[in-house]
Amino acid sequence: MQSWNYAQPVRILFGAGRIKELPAEVKALGGRRGVLVTSPSFVRRGIASQLVADSGGLLVATYSSVSPNPDVSECNACCEVIKREKADFVVAMGGGSVLDCAKAAATFALTTVSSHDYLTGAQPIPQKHLPLIAVPTTSGTGSEITCVSVLSDHAYGLKAPLVSDGFYPTLALVDSELTLTVPPHLTACTGFDVLCHATEAYWSRWHQPICDALAVHAARLVLEHLAVAVTDGMDRSARDAMSEASVIAGLSFTLPKTTSPHACSYALTRLLGIPHGEACALTIDYFMRLNLDKGCGRINDFAHLLGYADGYALADAYTELKRQTGVRGDLRSFALTDAQIKELVKASQHPNLKNNPVEITPDLLRAMYRSLR
Ligand code: NAD
Repeated sequence: MQSWNYAQPVRILFGAGRIKELPAEVKALGGRRGVLVTSPSFVRRGIASQLVADSGGLLVATYSSVSPNPDVSECNACCEVIKREKADFVVAMGGGSVLDCAKAAATFALTTVSSHDYLTGAQPIPQKHLPLIAVPTTSGTGSEITCVSVLSDHAYGLKAPLVSDGFYPTLALVDSELTLTVPPHLTACTGFDVLCHATEAYWSRWHQPICDALAVHAARLVLEHLAVAVTDGMDRSARDAMSEASVIAGLSFTLPKTTSPHACSYALTRLLGIPHGEACALTIDYFMRLNLDKGCGRINDFAHLLGYADGYALADAYTELKRQTGVRGDLRSFALTDAQIKELVKASQHPNLKNNPVEITPDLLRAMYRSLR
């Protein structure tokens, strides 16, 4: 007997060219003073200033000091701008890093607590937050529709997801034209993030039928279109399909949560500097085979729905797609010492491991990292 809940509170506007609807949506939000959160490249290319100009005075400031894997110090600085401007709404335009920083700041700016204390769990995250419009510019994280914000405290040696219903954006405006400028390697890495979301959502211990259907839809789109988007970034139909896959995969994992590849990815990014999607991709095929070996038959169902003979054939297809798109398949270039592997094993003991369909022990993690070195 199954028992499950489903909810999805984010309004979604999807379609190439729909960024032109942003000024009207900003006005419809009813706010009077908004802060635009973005990354330096959108300021350099004049896109941020155009957005501010088009807002008719409703966007009163821009915060753009957001790095990949945003640090709590950047989130704190974003909060200061929101407070200083007495902002009553936020617009976030960028990759997952920008969206995550803005989502957290839209809540934390209403408090006097540092982002560090929320990240370490020293303070519970309050529900009160400013309304936020999320405009993704990569096809990867699905952050525009999730209640997750992944922050890092580099000085403290921590990268972790924060989860709060208050982090759900009010609106996700998804325009694949904004992704045309994403370079090939980043397209491949973020595309694998999408594939991992869909795959992990399907095999998660907390899987449920609506999210299963979304996961299959998203994974199929990635398997059909990612290689084209990497080879020809100006292929609009491939970019559109990847944007669709990203949103749908985001919807697929929000409730079942991510599992072992994402748990390890936080350690791989923090300790070895591997970009997020590539860090997830590194272990997805390994964990697929491991989960199958330990009896997770649902992976065979997933493979059949995607047109593969079984889960092992699907794992082989993921390995091949990594090779084809230039995504790292091992850790050889790092020449890892035993001490580094020990540290990776320790740092990979993340709560998301508990969502994996089979138990992942430190011994299994050690064997995996040794086989990848
Ligand atoms: P990113 O946001 O870190 O961006 C990577 C780089 O791409 C940056 O330099 C950025 O400026 C650039 N970039 C972004 N859009 C561009 C465009 N259109 N053209 C050219 N360059 C562009 O990358 P990401 O993979 O989107 O986000 C990764 C972050 O999101 C990680 O911190 C990860 O942990 C987190 N994440 C969050 C969720 C969630 O649900 N909130 C889910 C998965 C991952």
